[in-house]
Amino acid sequence: MAQARIITLGCRLNTFESAIMRANTAGIEDTVVINTCAVTAEAERQARQVIRRLRRERPRVRIIVTGCAAQLNPGAFAAMEEVDRVVGNADKLDAALLTADDGEDVVVSDIMAPRETAGPFMAGPPVTDFGGRTRAFVQVQQGCDHRCTFCIIPFARGPNRSVPLARIVQQVQGLVDSGYAEIVLTGVDVCSYGADLAGRPSLGRMVRLMLRRVPALRRLRLTSLDPAAMDDDLFRLLAEEPRFMPHLHLSLQAGDDMVLKRMKRRHTRADAIEVCRRARAARPDVVFGADLIAGFPTETEPMFLNTLSAVAEMGLTYLHVFPYSPRPGTPAARMPEVPVTVRKERAAILRAAGGKALARFLESRIGTIAEVLVEKGRSGRCRHYAPVHLGFDAPAGAVVGARIANVVEGRLVGTRAA
Ligand code: SF4
Repeated sequence: MAQARIITLGCRLNTFESAIMRANTAGIEDTVVINTCAVTAEAERQARQVIRRLRRERPRVRIIVTGCAAQLNPGAFAAMEEVDRVVGNADKLDAALLTADDGEDVVVSDIMAPRETAGPFMAGPPVTDFGGRTRAFVQVQQGCDHRCTFCIIPFARGPNRSVPLARIVQQVQGLVDSGYAEIVLTGVDVCSYGADLAGRPSLGRMVRLMLRRVPALRRLRLTSLDPAAMDDDLFRLLAEEPRFMPHLHLSLQAGDDMVLKRMKRRHTRADAIEVCRRARAARPDVVFGADLIAGFPTETEPMFLNTLSAVAEMGLTYLHVFPYSPRPGTPAARMPEVPVTVRKERAAILRAAGGKALARFLESRIGTIAEVLVEKGRSGRCRHYAPVHLGFDAPAGAVVGARIANVVEGRLVGTRAA
C-alpha cells in the first residue's frame, strides 16, 4: 500500500509523533513529511539541507514540513521554493490537516493555546509500529512551562500537558502486544507530568500504576529527567521495580551554581549530587547519563571546572555534551558570549572526561551477566544502556543473557550465558 515517507529529525518525542503520522498517512502517495527539530541552530540548518537534497532527488514529490523548526519559523520554510506545505506542531497529528490539498501553504496554529493533549492524538488508534526499531517510545507529556534562558522549546511545543494514565496504558499495552520488550516514556519535561491533571499524579506514581496494569512489559526507561523535580515515588520505584532499568538520564546542563542560576535551572550543584546519592541508595548499580552545555554565556574557567568536577563527583557515565548554541529570541542570546573556540575546547574536555568514565564503567562489567535487548544483527544494549556485541546470533527485539568477556572499541563483548 502506498505510504507517505516520514523523515524524523530530533528527539524521541518527534520519533513518537512520526510513528503516528506514518499511520495517519497510509495510502498517501508521492508525499514526504519532514518532522523537524529546533533545539539548536545546527538542527534548523540540517532541516533546510534535508529539504533541498530531497527536492533535488525527487523533483515532483510533495514536501510537507512540520515539527519544532516549522512551528517557530513557518514563514522561513514557506518561503523555500522546495516546500509545498508547512504544518504546526499542534496540527501535525491531525491526519486531515497534515496532508490536505486545500491550497493552504501554511497551517500553523497557536502552540500556546492547547491546554490538554486532546484531539487527534488522543482519539486515534495506539501506535504499534516504530519502523524497524526494537525500542519503542511512548509520549506521556507535552510542552513545558519552564523558561530556561538558553531554550526555545517551550515556544515550539507550548505549555505543559500530560497524557492521562488510561491512554498511556492503552498505548504501552498495544506496543507490548506488538512484541516490543522495551519502552521509553518520553515528553518535553516529563517531571512536570500530572501538574495539569486532576489529583496531580506525579511521574513516579503514573509509572507505578502503568507498570501494574501492563505486567507483560519487560523493560522500561525514562527520557531526560529534571534533577529539581524527581518525585519520591520515582526513587521508590527505582528501589522496588526491576523492570525500571537502572539507567537515568539527567537534564543537568551545568555543575556550577552561578551558571545554573543564569540558565534559570531549578536545581543547584548540590541538588544534583543529592539526586545521584538518593538514586544509588535506592539502586546501587544505577548509572547516569547527563546533558551538559559547554561555554554558556559568562561561564568563566573556574565555573567550567566546577562542571567538570561535578562529572566525577556525581559519577556520571554517559555525557551528551553540547557547545553552547545561541537561539535567537532567548534571554541567553543577549548575554556576553564565551568565544566559540573556548566553547569547543570545553566541550572536548567534557567529552574526554565522559569517555574515561564510560571506559571505566564498561571495564567494571567484565565477568558479569548482562540482559541484552537485541537491536540489529549481533548488537544490543544491556539494562545499563551499554552497547553490547554478542558472540552469537539472536533475533532483533529478543532479550537474551550474555556473559561479558571483554570490552572492544567501546562495546561490551558477550558470549551466550548458560
Ligand atoms: S525544562 Fe528548560 S530546557 Fe527543558 S524544554 Fe523546558 S525550557 Fe527547555
